[in-house]
Amino acid sequence: MTTIDEKLQPIYADVLRRNAGETEFLQAVHEVLESLGRVVTKRPEYADNALIERICEPERQIIFRVPWVDDRGDVQINRGFRVQFNSALGPYKGGIRFHPSVNVGIIKFLGFEQTFKNALTGMPIGGGKGGSDFNPRGRSDNEIMRFCQSFMTELYRHLGEYTDVPAGDIGVGAREIGYMFGQYKRITNRYEAGVLTGKGLVYGGSRARKEATGYGAVYFVERMLGANKQAFAGKRAVVSGSGNVAVYTIEKITEFGGKVIACSDSNGYIVDEDGIDLELLKDIKEVRRERISEYARRKTGTHYIEQGSVWDVPCDVAMPSATQNELTGKDAATLIRNGVIAVGEGANMPSTPDAIRNFQEAGVLFAPGKAANAGGVATSALEMQQNASRDSWTFDQTEARLADIMRNIHDNCAATAEEYGVPNDYVVGANIAGFVRVAEAMNAFGVI
Ligand code: NDP
Repeated sequence: MTTIDEKLQPIYADVLRRNAGETEFLQAVHEVLESLGRVVTKRPEYADNALIERICEPERQIIFRVPWVDDRGDVQINRGFRVQFNSALGPYKGGIRFHPSVNVGIIKFLGFEQTFKNALTGMPIGGGKGGSDFNPRGRSDNEIMRFCQSFMTELYRHLGEYTDVPAGDIGVGAREIGYMFGQYKRITNRYEAGVLTGKGLVYGGSRARKEATGYGAVYFVERMLGANKQAFAGKRAVVSGSGNVAVYTIEKITEFGGKVIACSDSNGYIVDEDGIDLELLKDIKEVRRERISEYARRKTGTHYIEQGSVWDVPCDVAMPSATQNELTGKDAATLIRNGVIAVGEGANMPSTPDAIRNFQEAGVLFAPGKAANAGGVATSALEMQQNASRDSWTFDQTEARLADIMRNIHDNCAATAEEYGVPNDYVVGANIAGFVRVAEAMNAFGVI
């Protein structure tokens, strides 16, 4: 296992002691600290004034009760979270997740990752994340609305276009953002469009925001393949998940001439050797909100499989786009055995540390989520720009900006990896490039 430089080990020991049991947060901190040894060797001043210790500690953590009434008239209680991790580069910015697995450790890991990701975009946004252990699965539209309204009734006091600007994540799409924006507007009596991103087009949303994370991840991987004299054209790809990120990852890979033959949800996966039919997929997931098994029921010659893993399907390019730690060391070994050449993380931290090590040791190109999936938040920042200037850009204009940002992030990560003596190590490149930007701003502010 890659280890943390001995100068940074006491910092990790302290994080471990103070955040015991927060597995995902500890995993994310460990991975970043593994990369930072190279920085403090070259630039020891970055270890001064407990800078790294401060970066590992959220600026503010808010936990609150979310009571709401279900369709039977029963009162339900959920727990809401917002972790305002780091505002050195701008207002806190990061999505809201509704999933039964949500706890403070998961929100902290996401907020920590978000800080570096947002720094990589080069835009003026800090890092934050929020959510609830609310399970939207099987809930009626009215229940979702009542839950979102109750969630925002507490959260609104912590938000603002110059303070904290949430967006969507797992379980939170345009519908939920609409309910939350409506409640924010009602409580504050302010039409503050820049307080949430991922909004609908008619009330201040940006074109291409829905597509941005998936498209951006594919732009990143295409650039990474290009730097290694490869391209998506003619490649077989597997994408996990079938939510927002997965659908638009599949769409852009297909546009680039690749063929996506499998995708999944948390119950199983489908295989379509002809390449996923996007119209059918969107109808099932976006219009009807059904399970992925429907795909095989509606298209002959395709299969739905519940046992095993989507990573058992042989492919050239794998894009995990569902959730954290969904691709294990064993899955990585299977993918390598089946000839995978590149992995691009659409989700946040979907590959376990063992999986990443396996890929890197096998020479598989590996694009970490904090770089590869930054297109979503970058386009959220473009949405904020449009809101601030009361403007609305065309789809092509917005996508062109997104493509440019993703190419820059790629090139910055690649150049940083090279500068620190580990060419093609995008994990180290992303961690260091993101860290340096946050660290420079924090140093300028003194000890705060
Ligand atoms: P969605 O809710 O739209 O879709 C999530 C997908 O992942 C669903 O297919 C879901 O299946 C599956 N999934 C969720 N949890 C699990 C699990 N525990 N095991 C297996 N599958 C699971 O979310 P998004 O597409 O928005 O987010 C996907 C990932 O991308 C997350 O890691 C998120 O943090 C990350 N991300 C999202 C961004 C965005 O703009 N939306 C931006 C950057 C990163 P099921 O329906 O069965 O739950």
